[in-house]
Amino acid sequence: MKKKEIFFIAGLLVLAGVMWLGFRLSGQRSHNTIRITVDGKEFGTYSLDKDQVIHIGDTNVCEIKDGKVTMIEATCPDHYCMKQKAIDEHGGSIICLPNKVVIEGEDTADSSESEDSPKIDAVT
Ligand SMILES: [Zn+2]
Repeated sequence: MKKKEIFFIAGLLVLAGVMWLGFRLSGQRSHNTIRITVDGKEFGTYSLDKDQVIHIGDTNVCEIKDGKVTMIEATCPDHYCMKQKAIDEHGGSIICLPNKVVIEGEDTADSSESEDSPKIDAVT
């Protein structure tokens, strides 16, 4: 019986930890994300917290580094998208007109999100 109780409590702790972690991750993601669309269709959303290189179809390549997004490769003739200002946590957008690629930074400075985070920090 005692062993079962220990397992039960351990299970609860693990569950609480996973939920806490999941909450943290989802909260973080909503603060710094970019949305990529190609020809008006959603290609994907990515977190600015994770450094990575994203190949957008066969035409464009963008890079997330240090919380900033820049277009590093493009097949378009003008390469205007590669000269555009990097997207950071304050939002912004990079548009490649010839390839119909749009990268949008999601400015998530809305009050409901930022109100939640300090409460969690206070608990931990
Ligand atoms: Zn371009």
